[in-house]
Amino acid sequence: MILLEIDMGKNKVEKQEIDASGPLEAAITIHKKYETWRLDPLSPEAPIVFGMGPFVGGKLYGVHRLIFVFKSPQTKTLHVSALGGAAYKAMGMGAQAVAIRGRAEKPTAVFIANGQVEFAEIKPSDAYNLIKELYETRRDFFIQNDARALVVGPASWTTYNGAIVSVDIDVKKGEFRLGAEDFAARGGPGTALAQGHNVVAIVVGGPKKPLYEKAADAEAINQLFRQRLGKPYLDVLNEKTVKYRYDPKIGTGGTFGVNYPHYRDLLPLFGYKSIYMPKEERIKHADLVLELFWKPFQVEVFEKAKSWYNCGEPCPVVCKKVWRGKKVDYESFHAAGPFIGNYLLQEAVPVVDEIDKLGLDAIEMGHVIAWLFDAVYTGLLKPEEVGLDDVPAFDPSSFDPVKDSRRNAKLALALVRNFVNNSTDVLALVAKHGIRKAARELERRYADRVRERGVRFRDLAVYAAYGAEGYMTPNFYWAPGLVAPMYVLGRYWTNYNPTFMSPEDFAKTSYERAVAEALVDNAGICRFHRGWAEPVLKELYQLVGARPPAALYREIAYYAKLSGAEPMPWESKRTRDLVSALAKELGSKEWRFEDYDDYYEWWIRFKEALDKLILA
Ligand code: SF4
Repeated sequence: MILLEIDMGKNKVEKQEIDASGPLEAAITIHKKYETWRLDPLSPEAPIVFGMGPFVGGKLYGVHRLIFVFKSPQTKTLHVSALGGAAYKAMGMGAQAVAIRGRAEKPTAVFIANGQVEFAEIKPSDAYNLIKELYETRRDFFIQNDARALVVGPASWTTYNGAIVSVDIDVKKGEFRLGAEDFAARGGPGTALAQGHNVVAIVVGGPKKPLYEKAADAEAINQLFRQRLGKPYLDVLNEKTVKYRYDPKIGTGGTFGVNYPHYRDLLPLFGYKSIYMPKEERIKHADLVLELFWKPFQVEVFEKAKSWYNCGEPCPVVCKKVWRGKKVDYESFHAAGPFIGNYLLQEAVPVVDEIDKLGLDAIEMGHVIAWLFDAVYTGLLKPEEVGLDDVPAFDPSSFDPVKDSRRNAKLALALVRNFVNNSTDVLALVAKHGIRKAARELERRYADRVRERGVRFRDLAVYAAYGAEGYMTPNFYWAPGLVAPMYVLGRYWTNYNPTFMSPEDFAKTSYERAVAEALVDNAGICRFHRGWAEPVLKELYQLVGARPPAALYREIAYYAKLSGAEPMPWESKRTRDLVSALAKELGSKEWRFEDYDDYYEWWIRFKEALDKLILA
């Protein structure tokens, strides 16, 4: 594939032909070349690689994700983050992947189209204003190349948790395209781009054409699907993506629409405190969430109108559901909603808006808010130490769903701003190091409070640890696989179902999912399309004439070992409780988790089984 290596320190571009099947494999090759496991994640020498899969520009849908691979300031090892729809514009950039290295002297925007790269100095700003400003100052570039901007917001300069933000623009009208906004967010790719390379924005565009002609051969594609799955392509696609578009069986669609009625009382509330509640209590809370949080969305987005859009590529699934002008996804709204003790949808909107504008990863921010709320509620911190003027209502058993939701949402909005502004010592510490390292430091700083309250800072958070300082918080499901010793977490590279089984079986199912997800990312395919894509992926590579991928997950695991960022045993009580409470809920007889040794045994057996599978 063609890869552009851009040295930001020298404004130099080198076009290379490398042997890689997709962006993930290309990134692994580049990171190996520079031995980046030795480097700090924010070192200018640690490249950020982004690129697209081989199926762009043809007759396949959902194949235009832009995949970012970088050494994460949060996990301290390689992380992969995907941004929906952007490869539909990036396919014209004249390369399948780009590696950003070196550090620009001044904050810089990079414009890439048709193999040409330009640089321009630009002032950092809030993510949405920045995109507008880029459009206004370089309208010619946007129109000529039908371009799309990928930018970082203020959070990338002041926290570990910066996302890469992209909102597609109708280049003729200069207006944002509803629903076509997405984020490569988990693991801090924006922080790595901003602090490592001084890059504020990357604008991609150029002539749209398939990388491989065969990807545009509708007849050959249909033939392949008929042979393998017995139906033409679109029939299979519609069947396999129904949950994300509209499922008539449950009368809703999209991640937000489906998750609340589907998972109900198994969705985590109040920073996972819900795992301690009896089932009847959880059901009462789930009913409230459905009534106050889910129903207003359901009525306007499905019953009164169909405000469904795509992410920027012409995809018939139109999974982006828009409520009163705001794109509503499960993860970002849960982060500003029930997970932080807010059951009112309208109260979550300004919090999500602020998180988006500041360019934060919403899932991680939900964890930070819930953790700090709980620390203040428990008395480990004083409200003013995180810039708040009140104590959050963080006990689900005495929660007033209307009054307390308003209070918590207001406090969350203040906390998000304070966090990005590093406005107190405690927040500056968390913003610099993330939850895991900050928790340890706070335990030292406030040892007397820890003693008095009988609870440690780390015990209020849920995360999987990597090496000495890295960690990842789970996406919002009550699922042991999300904190199991897997090499990439925070997304779906694991068994993410609310289930429990022996560590060996769990490792096997998690490994299989991780391998499949890595392949889907490497192919630049949207995971909502995995249902039709996974069974035919090998044949699709054959069809277009591209080389199929190597053992990607093994390479990623090996890199983590070299970086000293292998999965580490659970160190927070709430993380361990997440696992044991679900085992109990599901009636596990064999695993009772009566003391720490039981947790350790399950964890280590999982890790050993996983490592064996990886090496096999
Ligand atoms: S399913 Fe949604 S995110 Fe995926 S390609 Fe289609 S519109 Fe984009």
